Amino acid sequence: MKNTTDKTFSALPPVTLTLDPLTGLLSRNSFLEQVRIRLDQDAPKDWCIATIDLEHFKLFNDWYGQEAGDRLLKNIADYLKRIQDCYHYTVGYFGNDDFFLFLPNDNGLIRLVFQTVCDYVQNQEQMEGFLPIVGVYPITDSERSVGTMCNYAQIAASTLKGKFSQRICYFEAAMVESLEKKQRVLHEINNGIPNGEFVFYLQPKCDSRTRKITSMEALVRWIHPKRGLISPNEFIPILEKSGLITRLDMYIWNSVCQTLRRWQDEHKPVVPISINISIIDIENIDVPRYLSSLTEQYHLDPKYLMAEITETAFAENNAAVKQTIDRLHKKGFTVLMDDFGSGYSSLNMLKDANIDILKLDMKFVEMNEENHNKGIQIMDSVISMAHRLNLLIVAEGVETSAQVSMLQSMNCLCVQGYYFYRPMPITDAEQLLSQTPIEDYHELRTSFAQQHNCEEYLVSYETLPSVSESITHILEENTLELARFNVITGEYVTIKKNPFLTDDAAGTVQNIHDYSHRLVDQGLIHPDDAEDYLLFMQPEHLQHLLLHKQTAVFYTVRRKVDGLYVRILIEFITGLACSENNPYVAVVRRVADDSD
Ligand code: C2E
Ligand code: CA
Ligand code: CA
Repeated sequence: MKNTTDKTFSALPPVTLTLDPLTGLLSRNSFLEQVRIRLDQDAPKDWCIATIDLEHFKLFNDWYGQEAGDRLLKNIADYLKRIQDCYHYTVGYFGNDDFFLFLPNDNGLIRLVFQTVCDYVQNQEQMEGFLPIVGVYPITDSERSVGTMCNYAQIAASTLKGKFSQRICYFEAAMVESLEKKQRVLHEINNGIPNGEFVFYLQPKCDSRTRKITSMEALVRWIHPKRGLISPNEFIPILEKSGLITRLDMYIWNSVCQTLRRWQDEHKPVVPISINISIIDIENIDVPRYLSSLTEQYHLDPKYLMAEITETAFAENNAAVKQTIDRLHKKGFTVLMDDFGSGYSSLNMLKDANIDILKLDMKFVEMNEENHNKGIQIMDSVISMAHRLNLLIVAEGVETSAQVSMLQSMNCLCVQGYYFYRPMPITDAEQLLSQTPIEDYHELRTSFAQQHNCEEYLVSYETLPSVSESITHILEENTLELARFNVITGEYVTIKKNPFLTDDAAGTVQNIHDYSHRLVDQGLIHPDDAEDYLLFMQPEHLQHLLLHKQTAVFYTVRRKVDGLYVRILIEFITGLACSENNPYVAVVRRVADDSD
């Protein structure tokens, strides 16, 4: 529809302008022309192109109807037209929810416009979710085409989508580069999948004492025709943002099942393989159903496919993740929680999540001095929890022998990391499996439970929800002290200590005999319990109890905590087989409860 509107735009030269029928604002072409004319004639200094975009406007229309949507656009347009007429700005409407302004590049002014548009949105529907975002392109080179300037303003705005804290963004040249790079990568990946450029490597998980392999993890690799091997950190985040990750993941899961099938057909040794599942996959497709269709197609027992879901996924979409886990269980798959400990603050989310295995990343343990104690605390809580609930822990990212001994003393059986094996191509993994003993993962779980005399904690999927409530309880429970005890030498190393325990500092190396006597001498053990306590703590007695045994030993005693005597439980937790070669035992002291 064409209108001659030179009356309204008194500052503009009399040319034919196209107005948008709904809003009465300049349409795209007329806006571009008008801004060009003003830049050429008036050459205003320090002006900018700003775009206003109503995030989720399509949803707004769906919820409130087209009429309400149109009314909102009209109200905003009327306001923008008023400021255009008063201050000689130029305003255009490009359709959908896209408004453009040519106005002075003044931060205060842009904020004011933004705030006013916000008020219009909220006046109409009191909806927080539909707040506008503003992208600004400051005009540094007025020769540039106005269309490009508008694109740049939109690129700046697009970086804000989904970020609720920041609503105005200024364009920077790097944004175009990163956008172009992303687009290029997405295009290359789309072509690369059918070209067979994506493969997976396998990284074994093993028993740290025997090096026997229990399972492997499939980690995707991009063998780029020009750039060679590319690590997933370079392309997974881009794929997740664009939703394309699911296409790649389905392809990888399929290849994993194909490999498992081939191993069985060729009578090669087979271990379960775990695959990584992104939260985007859970939102995009029915993951349990798809995996189940794969195991049917390849005639695989579902016990050979395990699912790794990151702890952060729980925070992002708790309900969907929980439902997915339940359904994976029903179909016979084992579920691992990946990167456990990275989101320590969201422990509550674990409450009803029926996971089978926790993967604890050593990155959270071995960081700088500052984070170290937090890491140890996490391990302390997690390991004591796992011992109770028959949850297996896999420590990942294990790189040093010090970490290995620490984990062994805490009886953390299963490990994965460069110290043992790096991720490797499938053929190398096949060769390794043909030369290295395999430990049946499912038997390992059962023997683990028996070894700790904790059959009563053996849980089935049906009973897990109630049991997992105690996960939170145990994790939040106050462990007073965590230590490592050498059964042969009597050496006692405190790893972590609650500040309420007013004796030696954490990290102290001492002999258990001296340590027990000092507690008694300082009156920290109740006088009535002292004699029995010293007898129990005699190094020879402990050696007799623990060496060559595979059971945990418990002892309760009244000990002064923060000035008061309270009953505390001391647990000695042995390794797979406590022996002269493996003399380390984890010692946990905590406040006893009624069941102890
Ligand atoms: P993740 O699942 O936590 O995998 C562990 C990462 O740590 C892997 O990196 C592995 O190579 C690396 N790693 C293993 N042992 C050590 C060690 O001792 N020290 C150190 N510093 N690193 C170690 P990678 O293969 O680069 O994968 C990175 C992440 O990309 C994975 O983290 C996972 O979140 C994601 N990813 C990998 N493959 C897939 C996939 O097929 N699908 C999806 N959705 N995500 C994947
Ligand atoms: Ca993983
Ligand atoms: Ca991990």
